[in-house]
Amino acid sequence: MEIDQAAIIANWRDLSARHAGGAVAAVVKADAYGLGAALVAPALFAAGCRHFFTAHLGEALALRPLIPGAMLAVLGGLGPAPGADVIEAFVHHDLVPVLGTFAEITTFAAAAGRLGRRLPAILHIDTGMARLGLDDAELDRLAQAPEPLQNLDLRFVMTHLVAAETAEDPLNAAQRQRFAQACARLPPVKRSLANSSGIFLGPAFASDLARAGAALYGINPTPHAANPMRLACRLLARVLQVRDVPAGAPVGYNATWRAARPSRIATLGIGYADGWPFRLAGRGSAFFDGAPVPLVGRVSMDLTTYDITDHPGIGPGSWLELIGQAMPPERIAALLDTSPYEILTGLGARIARVVLPAAAL
Ligand SMILES: *Cc1c(COP(=O)(O)O)cnc(C)c1O
Repeated sequence: MEIDQAAIIANWRDLSARHAGGAVAAVVKADAYGLGAALVAPALFAAGCRHFFTAHLGEALALRPLIPGAMLAVLGGLGPAPGADVIEAFVHHDLVPVLGTFAEITTFAAAAGRLGRRLPAILHIDTGMARLGLDDAELDRLAQAPEPLQNLDLRFVMTHLVAAETAEDPLNAAQRQRFAQACARLPPVKRSLANSSGIFLGPAFASDLARAGAALYGINPTPHAANPMRLACRLLARVLQVRDVPAGAPVGYNATWRAARPSRIATLGIGYADGWPFRLAGRGSAFFDGAPVPLVGRVSMDLTTYDITDHPGIGPGSWLELIGQAMPPERIAALLDTSPYEILTGLGARIARVVLPAAAL
C-alpha cells in the first residue's frame, strides 16, 4: 500500500482552513485508519499538527517518541479499574486520558494528589452517542462534587457527534445545544466538538479543537456530495501467477465462478487475512492502466483471482490497483453495505506500507 504523506498534510491544512475557530487534531487510532500511524503522525507533526488522539493506551505509547511535545490523548481513557501501571504509563509518558466516568475522574485526580501536581486530562460528555462519556447522572454528580477537577489540568471538554455526515439531521443541533449546557455547568475549559464531518457543518460547530480522522486519509466527510479531500493511500496487489482456462472451467473454492469463454485468470497475493473482504467474492474490480479488471470467484485467505482475459498487458509480477482514485474505499464499502472506515481499518499487518516519495519540485 502506498501512503501519500503529502495528501495527508494537504487534507489537514484544508481541514484547518475550514475550521477557522480552532485547531484540528489528528485522530490516528486503529493504526491511522489502516494507513500506518508511525508514517502518518510524524508527517503531520512536521507539518505543525500538535494534537493527536488514539483509542488505546498501547497505541499512544508506540507513538509517543515519534511526536515529542505534542498532546497525545487516549479516547479510551484509563479504562475500568486501572492498575497502578496504567496510571504510571499516562503520567510518565505525558499522555492525556479522555475521562468519561466520575470514577475515572476521581482516580486520576487522586493520582495527581499523590504526585502533588495537576495532571492533564480531557473530559468527555455524552450528548447522544450513549457509548463513552459522562451521562446526565454522572454530570450531575460531577457538578455537585467538582473538587476532583482541581487536581486536573483540563485541556478540553469534548463530545462526539453521532450523525455529522448528514448535515440536515436535527441530532447535530441538539447535541451542540446539550454540549453547551453541559459546559456551562463546568469550569471554563476549551471545547472540542467536531469530527471530520462536523467540520463541514459550518461555523456553529467550530470549537477550540476539531478531531479529524477519516477526512485526513481521504474518506469523504460529506458522503452526500463530491469528496473535497484527497485519497491518501493506494492499495496494490501483485500478480503471482497467470493461467489460461477453457470455457466452463471453475475458478476458486466451491467453483462459484465458471469461465463463460476461454479465459485468462490472474492470482493476486492478497486475501481476506489481509482484510481484502471475503464478501467481495464475485464483486467489484481492480484497476490496471485505468481499466477495470473483474474479481472472479471466492476471495481466499491469501489469494484473490481476477479475470484478465481482456488485459493482455497483465502478467506475473504486474501490480493491480485494488483501492485508489478509480476504486475509492466508498465504492468498495457500497458493494458490501458497510462503511469506508471498515474497509481501510481492516487492512492487515501483512500489507507493506510504503511512503510515496515527496513530489519532485
Ligand atoms: C474516531 C473518532 C473521531 C474521528 O472521527 P472521524 O469521523 O474519523 O473524523 C473523533 N472523535 C472521537 C471521539 C472518535 O471516536
